[in-house]
Amino acid sequence: MSSNETYDVIVVGSGAAGAMAALRAKERGLSVLIVEKAHKYGGTSATSGGVLWVPDHQLTLNDDSREKTLEYLDSIMPGPIQRDRLDAYLDNAPEMARFMKSLGIPVGVAAWPDYYPQAASARADRSLICDTFDGRELGEHFPLMREQYNRFKVFGRYSMDVMQFFSISTRAKGWVITFLKMFFRYWTDFSTRKLTMRDRRFTMGAAMMGWLYKQVFDRKIEVRLDTKLDELIVSDRQVTGVRLSHYGRRYEIKASCGVVLCAGGFEWNQELRDRFFPVPGLTRHSSSPEDANRGEALIAGMQIGAATEHTESGWWIPTMQMPMPKASNFEEIHQAAFDVGRPHSVAVNRKGLRFVDEACGYDDFGKAMVADQLKTGANTPCWLVFDARFRDKFSAGGIMPTILMPDRKIPPDWWDRYLFRADTLEALAAKILVPVDTLKQTVANMNRYAGTGVDPEFGRGSNAYDQMFGDWNVKPNPCLGPIDKAPYYAVPINLGDLGTKGGLKADASARVLDGSGRPIPNLYAAGNNAGSPFGNCYPGAGGTIGPALTFGYVAANHIAACKVEQQQAGAGASHVDAAA
Ligand SMILES: Cc1cc2nc3c(=O)[nH]c(=O)nc-3n(C[C@H](O)[C@H](O)[C@H](O)COP(=O)(O)OP(=O)(O)OC[C@H]3O[C@@H](n4cnc5c(N)ncnc54)[C@H](O)[C@@H]3O)c2cc1C
Repeated sequence: MSSNETYDVIVVGSGAAGAMAALRAKERGLSVLIVEKAHKYGGTSATSGGVLWVPDHQLTLNDDSREKTLEYLDSIMPGPIQRDRLDAYLDNAPEMARFMKSLGIPVGVAAWPDYYPQAASARADRSLICDTFDGRELGEHFPLMREQYNRFKVFGRYSMDVMQFFSISTRAKGWVITFLKMFFRYWTDFSTRKLTMRDRRFTMGAAMMGWLYKQVFDRKIEVRLDTKLDELIVSDRQVTGVRLSHYGRRYEIKASCGVVLCAGGFEWNQELRDRFFPVPGLTRHSSSPEDANRGEALIAGMQIGAATEHTESGWWIPTMQMPMPKASNFEEIHQAAFDVGRPHSVAVNRKGLRFVDEACGYDDFGKAMVADQLKTGANTPCWLVFDARFRDKFSAGGIMPTILMPDRKIPPDWWDRYLFRADTLEALAAKILVPVDTLKQTVANMNRYAGTGVDPEFGRGSNAYDQMFGDWNVKPNPCLGPIDKAPYYAVPINLGDLGTKGGLKADASARVLDGSGRPIPNLYAAGNNAGSPFGNCYPGAGGTIGPALTFGYVAANHIAACKVEQQQAGAGASHVDAAA
């Protein structure tokens, strides 16, 4: 069972947290191995939007500061958090971003409003994103990076950056030219086309992970795929290695300085969801990769006495489930985050009542679904109801606008299962089993609000974040358009997620704590494997990847410092021996 291999550091999981932990550890002179359970490296991070929330990043001239960030966070964070861990985040995130820059990774500001733009000291320049990356730079590792999320590619093929995503998904002025350029670039890339259909242009999360893994591979850090952590090895209360499995073969590797758990959340483990979440939702509705995050590293930590925190919530996002053409055992999960707040639509629970400002941040949308489910028992799923104008222009989960997916092309088995249509609101309400009078009243209210531009119930479209995803052709409020052009449609919206917010309780140095608050020697956790420094709060775009990268960086620094201390203590001891 033992393999006689020893590394200073073993990193479990190859997402953002794992890549950064490994890279920084190597930079600090440690020997490192990354073990990754999936066939591909990159984790959810490679599928993601690749945005990092790094307040007071100092990459550009602005007047943000630690104090302003704290003012913002203190006004929005709902529950108790570990203050020193939050402080460590604020201190180390800018340093981590500078470290990325120093490696030549082009990370810059993404103009994205914080998710609570009306809160004190909210800004629109705390989110960062990496420039596009040429996947071929990864050489033989190019095909082994996890594919980008399907919706970030046109027709699942042509990669979009954030600007192209917004231009094409809202059919903004010039979107056709934008698309034609992408199309032309892809098909004239003859050398890549001979190799693979995969676009070499990595954008968003794939770009971030491409840049990071270029550095990882350049430094000859081994990434061992198809290799799953089963258990942690403990000797004298100290973690000394990992027990792994690889296609059924079980073996052990020793870690002389530390094991960093970066194995993501537990979103794909129904048992843990049922145990921790007040409204568990289904694994099936998660938008993270199915084969990946099942909480094994969380369980391994708990088995040796680690404490947990903030496990009561996912990083919520509304999703929609759709059949996957040509696959008999699969349904694809589509995020509907930006769709639910577009004009000419309304989200209602199964009683036909609204429960949220539909254009709010996607995590808050999910929180509102949970709260409404607990209150009424008539949410999860809820309904997105919209009219012909919305159908024509916007996507609804996996249902693309009519120009791409006209009604006549919708497969017959989708109707009245994934997409519902009727000529009148009464008939639609009857189809989706929502009380007719309530739905009609809700829609009448929305039509009145569209006229005045003011939503007195939930304030939809009243702040910069809401408006970012609205339609500026719709006036006076870009998020409120009348729902009055037949036919009418509805799609079911599920309580989806991007991962989970809670995990092992780690301290300001990313050390995992036991039940009495003492660090478990040599055990670290970062990313969704650890509790979020923000608790149950998503402060801005990049609120999960920012901390993942930062605490991966912090863990590596702490391990490196411990090793130096040990060496000095050893040298001191041998000095004494020699003197004696
Ligand atoms: C479509 C989409 C868009 C998103 N956009 C953003 C965004 O722009 N900004 C943002 O902040 N967040 C975003 N998120 C959320 C974000 O991607 C995740 O929260 C984040 O990437 C988690 O990083 P991580 O390193 O903790 O875990 P992951 O990236 O999920 O990596 C964990 C890795 O551990 C591996 N693993 C799991 N168990 C084991 C085991 N037992 N042994 C070995 N390996 C194991 C997994 O296979 C996986 O590769 C998005 C999510 C999705 C799905």
